[in-house]
Amino acid sequence: MDRETIDPLEIIEQAESLWPHNTHAVEDPAVSEAVQYALSKPTDAPNNVALLRRAGKHSSRVRRLFDVVFGKAMLWSDFDFFEAPCDRCLGDIQPQHSLWVPAGATVVEVHMCADCRVQVDALLTDLVWD
Ligand SMILES: [Zn+2]
Repeated sequence: MDRETIDPLEIIEQAESLWPHNTHAVEDPAVSEAVQYALSKPTDAPNNVALLRRAGKHSSRVRRLFDVVFGKAMLWSDFDFFEAPCDRCLGDIQPQHSLWVPAGATVVEVHMCADCRVQVDALLTDLVWD
């Protein structure tokens, strides 16, 4: 049990310094929706640490952002990565692209099909894809 009091703003700053990219990705309405959906899913992850969460229908998977960025945690399995549907268009298509989108203390990983990537890249510049 963690009884330490941690300033929530500090956690947000921590997340921002670990993943400063793609803050504008939520300007795409469908990406924004996928992010909000991911954040609305229940999780038993700690709320006093910056997190990486998967978007996506089936998944409520969560990792500590620090561990993922510094390679101390396994990311998702190939099965999870290529799991249809696409998080953005919800089409029954294997996603091939991954976009990390900051949302406060959490970064949401959105998996997208090739068509969605083309559409998002046409709308927004300077996105960092994985
Ligand atoms: Zn798509």
